[in-house]
Amino acid sequence: MPAFRAPRGTRDLLPEDRAVFDRLASTGTALAVRYGYRPIETPMFEQSAVFERGIGSVTDVVEKELFRIAPRSEEAEAWALRPEPTAGIVRAYVQHGMQTWPQPVKLTFTGPMFRYDRPQAGRYRQFWQFDVEAIGDPGPAVDAEIIELGLRFYGEVGVRDVQVLVNSIGDPACRPAYIDALRDFYRGHLDVLPPTERDRLERNALRLLDSKDPAMVELNASAPRITDRLCEACAAHFASVQVHLTALGVPFRIEPGLVRGLDYYTRTAFEFYVAGREGQQQALGGGGRYDGLVELLGGKPTPGIGFGLGLDRVALVLAEQGTEPPAAEGPLAVIVGADPEDTVTRLKVATDLRAARLRVRADLGRRKLGRQLEAAGRDGAHFAVILGDELAQGQVQVRDLLAGTQRTVGIDDLARELARAEASHHHG
Ligand code: AMP
Repeated sequence: MPAFRAPRGTRDLLPEDRAVFDRLASTGTALAVRYGYRPIETPMFEQSAVFERGIGSVTDVVEKELFRIAPRSEEAEAWALRPEPTAGIVRAYVQHGMQTWPQPVKLTFTGPMFRYDRPQAGRYRQFWQFDVEAIGDPGPAVDAEIIELGLRFYGEVGVRDVQVLVNSIGDPACRPAYIDALRDFYRGHLDVLPPTERDRLERNALRLLDSKDPAMVELNASAPRITDRLCEACAAHFASVQVHLTALGVPFRIEPGLVRGLDYYTRTAFEFYVAGREGQQQALGGGGRYDGLVELLGGKPTPGIGFGLGLDRVALVLAEQGTEPPAAEGPLAVIVGADPEDTVTRLKVATDLRAARLRVRADLGRRKLGRQLEAAGRDGAHFAVILGDELAQGQVQVRDLLAGTQRTVGIDDLARELARAEASHHHG
């Protein structure tokens, strides 16, 4: 056992894993940009109140999972690592007066999130999300646009069989009456409520609907459904979201039990699952409308909608579905030499080629030329640049390790020759 290990619930992304994440992140950003979103970056920690107010204090994310940072002194502010990006982005929207920008303000972000959760497969204490937020558009068209964007992301990165679940969770006009009905329903089943749920019943009955407890899952199947109790405006909004989704060719299923774990959602809520795994609390991603959040964080009433898609789970599903990770790219050339001791010249030639923007490695081991060439082959290098006696005449040997050919090249032409080979290789 090594003396030190990555903290429980975190993982090192070794270069191969990191390559997968890079591909997911860059595909997501490029896609969001295509849809008119602009990348933003907010701090990894905020005043705890941003999350407590924004997400709600009676939620798993805040009550149990918030990574609080111990204050260093009496007067220090209470901070917490971000468990999700929306609250921080909306805090930035209010702080920087983005309500005076043309609306909606469409922002995208990809980065690590932190939740002090019980670690298990697909559930980590540090995980990555690809996130988009459209702030200042009441929908319903943008709701469908965002859901379609999420589904397209999974398609572009190669996840198969993704299913879209949607629901409307109402608004302050109709939700209170629904929550009363829900509370009455649970009061009639107090004997089967687990202690946490019983404790939450009076404070936040909606939370009981997305409880992970098996006893609750069973009970919730017969709970009153919000979709039967939406006010006219919410029902019309939800119907229109569905019309738009259908027009875009997005297949979806209405899931009346889908309420999402955060308090700030209103109306449209949605989640993405791999078909057949809906029950396992392993959403690939989710999001929803949060028309009250800007105001909760001190701004003028402003509607908004967004999603957060978990990249760790996408990487897991891609591996399970047998999608090949991107192959590691070997260097274009390795600089080797007949004189094992002459690391100065090998490193100098490599440095000049790197200055010319070429991807090269210098063999800095003091080993025989044959060994250096073997290592270049193992590296997957296209060329070996061999430094020998002709260097005195300004010439080197360039061996094409893929084709098995070799020719003499003037040292002054080397960068140009290699660049040309690289360009034709990439385009050919
Ligand atoms: P949530 O805001 O909880 O719905 O999270 C949005 C998405 O982030 C989820 O659908 C997951 O894909 C991902 N996610 C949330 N929590 C975790 C976690 N602890 N570990 C890995 N991924 C997570």
